[in-house]
Amino acid sequence: MFIGHFAPALIVATRPKAAGLGTLFVAAQLIDIGFAALLIPGIEAMRIVPGITAMNPMDLYQMPYTHSLLGALLWAAGFGLLVQFATKRREAAIGAALVVVSHWLLDLFVHIPDLTLSGGPPKLGLGLWNHPLVEMPLEILLTFGALLYYARRTRAHSSNLRLWILAVLLALVQAIDWFGPKEPVYSLAIPATMLAAYAVLAAAAAWTGANRRPADG
Ligand SMILES: [Zn+2]
Repeated sequence: MFIGHFAPALIVATRPKAAGLGTLFVAAQLIDIGFAALLIPGIEAMRIVPGITAMNPMDLYQMPYTHSLLGALLWAAGFGLLVQFATKRREAAIGAALVVVSHWLLDLFVHIPDLTLSGGPPKLGLGLWNHPLVEMPLEILLTFGALLYYARRTRAHSSNLRLWILAVLLALVQAIDWFGPKEPVYSLAIPATMLAAYAVLAAAAAWTGANRRPADG
């Protein structure tokens, strides 16, 4: 799951009092942003094992602080508090926190058992990464269904150009993720690429959201 994580952000962003789309894009991937940041000093860890899943070679063997349910709830609470301070809107804070938690729930469908409840066993994951013919259409449907919903429930101040650019960008990064070259071994290039991709997508989402308002309000 990569761009599918942005679906909850797009849905929550249609609420009149929601946080901005850029903030919600950060919320959607906060658990992975945290993971990439903790990979750098080696607090969390992964390795490349070709063939470990049909769709990607990541052995995510140590992610207790980001990809446990308890960890995800704590990241959500922290992010919700930040949004509460920044916006003074309870609905914005709650929406953003729910989007943070949605990351763990969506990961549960695609990961092989490498997720945890509180850091230790049991390891959870339904393994759709081993079923590309299910996972790929599901992720496309989820993301572009949510984009369509967002497009219908919001109105652009000027044209829909920014939303189209965001849609193309999402399709492009997903295509690179699925079909692009894979790193043969783990290196700092992996967290660096993750952080760069999430930064670009959040910036594009902020730029798109700034040009739109709720359709009814
Ligand atoms: Zn994740």
